[in-house]
Amino acid sequence: MSHIADITLAPSGEKKIRWAADHMPVLASIAEDFRKERPLEGLKVALSVHLEAKTAWLCRVMEMAGAEMFVTGSNPLSTQDDVAAALVSGGMEVFAHHGASPEEYEADIDSVLAPGPNIIIDDGGDLVHGMHTRFPGLIEGVLGGCEETTTGILRLQAMARAGELKFPMMLVNDADCKHLFDNRYGTGQSVWDGIMRTTNLIVAGKQVVVSGYGWCGKGVAMRARGMGARVIVTEIDPVKAIEAHMDGYTVLPMSEAARLGDIFVTVTGCSNVVGPEHFPLLKDGAILSNAGHFDVEVNAAALREMAVDRFEARHNIEGFVLPNGRTVYLLAEGRLVNLASGDGHPAEIMDMSFAVQAMCARYIARHRDELKPGVIRVPAEIDESIARKKLETLGISIDALTEEQIAYLGI
Ligand code: NAD
Ligand code: SAH
Repeated sequence: MSHIADITLAPSGEKKIRWAADHMPVLASIAEDFRKERPLEGLKVALSVHLEAKTAWLCRVMEMAGAEMFVTGSNPLSTQDDVAAALVSGGMEVFAHHGASPEEYEADIDSVLAPGPNIIIDDGGDLVHGMHTRFPGLIEGVLGGCEETTTGILRLQAMARAGELKFPMMLVNDADCKHLFDNRYGTGQSVWDGIMRTTNLIVAGKQVVVSGYGWCGKGVAMRARGMGARVIVTEIDPVKAIEAHMDGYTVLPMSEAARLGDIFVTVTGCSNVVGPEHFPLLKDGAILSNAGHFDVEVNAAALREMAVDRFEARHNIEGFVLPNGRTVYLLAEGRLVNLASGDGHPAEIMDMSFAVQAMCARYIARHRDELKPGVIRVPAEIDESIARKKLETLGISIDALTEEQIAYLGI
């Protein structure tokens, strides 16, 4: 029995889902195939992904494929109650509400695992972790699953190395059609969307500090520069640091960047990137935000402890008065600013990420007898077919190798 905030919000959620679906043409074409083939017929799917409109449309596409869906969010602050209501009014089982406490969040995870899923769609590893620790007796029924994000994959790889991963998990984030677009262009845009709608301040002329120059960091830095900010990058990887330098950014250690930044964005997957040693160095009015997986990149717990006073400056902005008299601001409790303070990545981006998810779910169903426990790379054919469909929907044509070129290249 579903557990959500308010079913009467369904009409607003329905509009959001329709708008998103109309801008996700690759997923629409997969939906057409799924309606005919019913590749997930008779299978139970547990899904934990940021519960907003694009995710809801993925859930519906999986349902069209024949799946029985059990849905929850992947972050208590990114769940949109109207979207959850729309899914429930369409007959889906949903367990999530905005602002769930850690205990309620875990109870919702358990609610989607308890029916005994055959396929798991995870975003950060909470379902896989819950399955192994709290529902080991149901693992036998799991054919496999898909992981959406970088940090979730690191957790899966560690489990696989230790021989603890008990079913196959496909590394969706590592597919080209996912991280090249979602992490870079998706995060690049949605982080600034989240920061701007939350603060209503100008980015042009600001000194922005981006921590981590991976796929997400590259996008966040690129878009900050595009809006007229001066950008500093902090890194721990010497190669990425050179890349940032060659891309024209200033590269500094955090101990120096902390003194200069007006707006900070962490996207590392690491912890304590901006921590107690940095807080006293920050300028009065500095704004801290995080777009990496956990709320530990900006050490919010240490900031709360150090502050002599705290106040709500504006919705989703908390002010902290430090012992040196300066005030610094933390956005969205230090959780992913693009999702906890916005709608996450744009629909055209999630079109590709969720196309990978949908095709991987079908791959698991089709290859159920061959797949072994452990991590599985997304087959290149899935990437290629999604890229070709995306190009088609964008009206872009490309060349094909001639026989002569194939011979010349020796392919
Ligand atoms: P990535 O591995 O490509 O990049 C991470 C970078 O951070 C690396 O270059 C690494 O060297 C650097 N780094 C690590 N520790 C650091 C530290 N202490 N200081 C400075 N730099 C450090 O990963 P990615 O795909 O860019 O993902 C980054 C994080 O963002 C992950 O946690 C991922 O799950 C999350 N993510 C968030 C969103 C979103 O919508 N907000 C989208 C995709 C991924
Ligand atoms: N449980 C984590 C989730 C990781 S978030 C947490 O603490 O919140 C990172 C993932 O969110 C990315 O891999 C990206 O694909 C996904 N994402 C970004 N925008 C999204 C959106 N609009 N809808 C659903 N997922 C989104």
